[in-house]
Amino acid sequence: MKNKYLYIETFGCQMNVHDSEQIAALLADIGYKTTDNKKLADLILLNTCSIREKAAQKFFSELGRLVKLKEENPALIIGVGGCLAQHLGGRIFKKVAQVDLVFGTHNIHLLPELISTLQKEKTKIMQIDFQKSLNSIGVFAPPEKGAVSAFVTIMQGCNNFCAYCVVPYLRGPEMSRSPEDIIEEIKKLTDYGIKEITLLGQNVNSYGNNLGNSSFASLIKKIVKVDGIERIRFTTSHPKDLSEELINCFAEEEKLCEHIHLPAQSGSNRVLALMNRGYTVKEYRAKVDHLRRVCPQISITSDIIVGFPGEGENDYQETIDMMEKIRFDSVFSFKYSERKGTAAQNLGGKVDESEKLRRLKELQFLQDEYTLEKNAALEGTGQELLVEGKSKTSGNDMMGRTRSWKIVNIKGDHDLVGKIVNVKISKAYLHSLRGETI
Ligand code: SAM
Ligand code: SF4
Repeated sequence: MKNKYLYIETFGCQMNVHDSEQIAALLADIGYKTTDNKKLADLILLNTCSIREKAAQKFFSELGRLVKLKEENPALIIGVGGCLAQHLGGRIFKKVAQVDLVFGTHNIHLLPELISTLQKEKTKIMQIDFQKSLNSIGVFAPPEKGAVSAFVTIMQGCNNFCAYCVVPYLRGPEMSRSPEDIIEEIKKLTDYGIKEITLLGQNVNSYGNNLGNSSFASLIKKIVKVDGIERIRFTTSHPKDLSEELINCFAEEEKLCEHIHLPAQSGSNRVLALMNRGYTVKEYRAKVDHLRRVCPQISITSDIIVGFPGEGENDYQETIDMMEKIRFDSVFSFKYSERKGTAAQNLGGKVDESEKLRRLKELQFLQDEYTLEKNAALEGTGQELLVEGKSKTSGNDMMGRTRSWKIVNIKGDHDLVGKIVNVKISKAYLHSLRGETI
């Protein structure tokens, strides 16, 4: 039988990256091999993001380039999935007639069936219904040969309805997988040599709310018992649901890496209330202090939005002030992007694009200084590194991550992949560190 080739392009967050791994695994079962060469593909899938307007624009320009391949190969199937597909549904067919399939965020597990139908019936298919099951996120994706680290999705959806965010509308209500399912998946991953897992959810801190007495901290306490797993990470944490029990895990559970991504979004109480975030700056800072008290070496990263409707210069300065006091290890910062159907769309006090850009640039400049300062503080220290593979930026070197999620480049060869090595940090840069094996 002739090989069939699948080309997947992923936009957006880690959740989408993992969804694409699951898609590739499912389609491998019906004979599709993944390829990096679009021209070779029999099936092209675009896994889209809708979180900000820029992500949507990026997708449409890529789709414009890909549909030209269909002129050369009319048998090519083009499918669009992910958050933007969930949002636009059939409007994607109207915008780009060459698209054959639109599938939503709850329908990944149906793909083999949808593709087989497309092949037989040469029609257009749209499947964007929300499902009451967790079938879509429970698909097992065998890791690539040599991989040491893997994602595990523990929950889908979100109930928080932050005023700027489309996720609750496009990923549906929050639902958690059972601890048993999650543990089974993690055990399977260790059979492939996986040593580090990252637990994924929009708000892992509310894991288990639909399961009775299963908290996120209790899930971690179960996962640490899995032989072969040496490191556990998770993302993302909502500050309002960060429990004392979870904070204590950073001191008590050796396998839990000392890093937390804790999106603050703003340093102004007024803006936080408008955003419907459910905490004040004081409460946020108290959680940061608590984390640092329990685990002084913890690295704390965050997300910040500038130019949210109603954010005045004073509010923005309060964000700068918060960053100056907290000193995050790094920050993902964004200009507010208006999304259809969200509560923030109806708020007054819209901020000009040029003003948003000014705030963003200034904030990023400042954070670069803090990031470098944080990295420089590690010079001369010993760090434990899990070696992941070849360095992307530093010649023939190998790279790994510290427990605190920092990239370290070291001399060495491929034999080090998957090993935990001790290094001394010799030089700090903005985006990475250099280490010497001890
Ligand atoms: N669930 C996670 C949370 O609450 O932290 C992450 C959600 S989202 C994929 C990642 C980040 O995108 C958010 O933390 C927020 O900073 C940013 N974001 C979401 N909607 C946005 C919007 N409309 N405009 C700008 N940034 C946005
Ligand atoms: Fe969006 Fe807020 Fe849910 Fe995160 S917690 S996914 S920002 S609604």
